[in-house]
Amino acid sequence: MKILVVGSGGREHTLVWKIAQSPLVDKIYCAPGNAGTATQAENVNINAEDINALAAFAEQNQIDLTVVGPEGPLVAGIADIFQEKGLAVFGPSGAAAQLEGSKVFSKNHMLKYGIPCAAGKAFTDPKRAKLYAKALGAPCVVKADGLAAGKGVIVCTSLEEAYTAIDDMLKGNKFGDAGAVVVVEECLNGEEASFIVLTDGNTVLALPESQDHKRIYDDDKGPNTGGMGAYSPAPVLDHLLRTKAMEEVMIPAVKGMANEGTPFKGVLYAGLMVDKESIRVLEFNTRLGDPETQPILMRLKNDLVPLMEACCNGTLHNHTIKIDPRAAMCVVIAAGGYPGSYEKGHEITGLDQANRVKDTVVFHAGTAMDNGKVVASGGRVLGVTSLGDTVADAINTAYEACAKIDFKDCFKRKDIGAKALKRMAIPPQVGVIM
Ligand code: AMP
Repeated sequence: MKILVVGSGGREHTLVWKIAQSPLVDKIYCAPGNAGTATQAENVNINAEDINALAAFAEQNQIDLTVVGPEGPLVAGIADIFQEKGLAVFGPSGAAAQLEGSKVFSKNHMLKYGIPCAAGKAFTDPKRAKLYAKALGAPCVVKADGLAAGKGVIVCTSLEEAYTAIDDMLKGNKFGDAGAVVVVEECLNGEEASFIVLTDGNTVLALPESQDHKRIYDDDKGPNTGGMGAYSPAPVLDHLLRTKAMEEVMIPAVKGMANEGTPFKGVLYAGLMVDKESIRVLEFNTRLGDPETQPILMRLKNDLVPLMEACCNGTLHNHTIKIDPRAAMCVVIAAGGYPGSYEKGHEITGLDQANRVKDTVVFHAGTAMDNGKVVASGGRVLGVTSLGDTVADAINTAYEACAKIDFKDCFKRKDIGAKALKRMAIPPQVGVIM
């Protein structure tokens, strides 16, 4: 088979790495890719958002399956364009990707199908939005309806902050069309977890649960980022809560999409807020998380290619997911200054040494080749990912590998996985399945 992976981040390098292990595959392309994907795939100089050029490339090169990493092309309808041309694509239709592309659509879907989520409403009128925020009280959350590069959600600690966020979006055009409608919602407390499934529109198979680290600094301080590290398994989502997440979130969401005439095929990701025995959905994503993909695919024992094909052709019921019982940890190494401005072009050293650490793979995110050298070219640069018999082992190995890597001003959190260790130190309560 010839496979095309669309995207250029750590998630896409991990997809290329996993797909390259499939005996079914003889050629992988990655558009546009990075210095890591170039080691196992042929990078193609087409932007992930240029969906017509990607379709033309897939047609010309007789690609058997295209795997779409990021949300932008999915929401823009890449799957629809490919299907019109008779090209197989792993990812939901534009209509189904609205679960991520529109917070209003997503909230309405959750409310209609009884999926647990924060109380919230959609507004175009700032006065009404503010009245609702006032009724909810602070803290509350203001969300731009559309995709806003991960910056469209403002958790407001005071009503003044909420009013400013509402005005910025509805009057100040802060996020353009994406902020022409806002969702104002209740602020939820608890610990976040990522629950990701594969679906063919009917059958739903769970991938291992994981936990991301959104903030830039240790102890979850500082501004939000794309994600500074992730691990799996995540003890915050125990067996009981994973069963709940399947029965109360994923199955109703997928059945609901089919019922609406827009079946969902591909990866469905629920960002969950876990509070003791309760789970509520913060958001749906319609693709794999980055960096959750790195530990999840390190633990996945199945050949990913037949699973993706089964999602496309409605035969997922013939499959089961096989998971490595070991833990996996991904530590992101970022450029100094990220998530603000940062420098590009610094040479990265120690990659080979880090890759030689046992059960470790260094996934590239923002990297490029410059005169035969690997250089940093993005904010999140690498995702150093290791397996270990326990979370503690995986943490030690990942940080041992990280220590071998260097580039000017590089930065990483030192506490990835610490929440899992803390939680595992708490003895299970009688009668609670851990
Ligand atoms: P979203 O894109 O909706 O997941 O929002 C991004 C981040 O904002 C989440 O990962 C949470 O940290 C936070 N967030 C979103 N909605 C809420 C909520 N209702 N209560 C508390 N935090 C939230």
